[in-house]
Amino acid sequence: MKIKISKFLSSDALSLKVKENLIVDDKEFLSNTNLDGNIQLTGEIFKSGEDLYFTGTVKYTFKDKCARCLKEFENTAENKFQAIIVPKEDEESDEMQFVLKDGTVIMDEGIKQLIYLSMPMKSLCSKDCKGICPNCGVNLNNESCQCENHLTDPRFDKLKNLLKN
Ligand SMILES: [Zn+2]
Ligand SMILES: [Zn+2]
Repeated sequence: MKIKISKFLSSDALSLKVKENLIVDDKEFLSNTNLDGNIQLTGEIFKSGEDLYFTGTVKYTFKDKCARCLKEFENTAENKFQAIIVPKEDEESDEMQFVLKDGTVIMDEGIKQLIYLSMPMKSLCSKDCKGICPNCGVNLNNESCQCENHLTDPRFDKLKNLLKN
């Protein structure tokens, strides 16, 4: 995950738009995150005096499991970030950092951290996923089950009682 910016650094331009498809080949990272191996990066690098800043967005696709019906599905997430570009990483700093080496921005650590920290914890395969029948374990998105009629909504029970009286 690198971008060469030496031309930008030696030019008078104050900002550089970036649009890159980053290929991730870190096997451990991929197995921890279930990412498909591609990260779309868009953003802009700014010069400010001696300093360099990078604001952008990463977008990635990963295998996820629905919290309601437990089905595996492809999920996409998007995270905005703001980073400083430094010649040497400062481990004391809380800021997101990319390292500049020989005119190339090295983003691996910063982007991996960002993704680790901001992946959604609980996702649904669709916003109206019906989930699993708590009684028989059938996936209610695909089929209905026998016991469905026995499960009633407490709100309707109240209503039924009112109607009886
Ligand atoms: Zn689901
Ligand atoms: Zn059931």
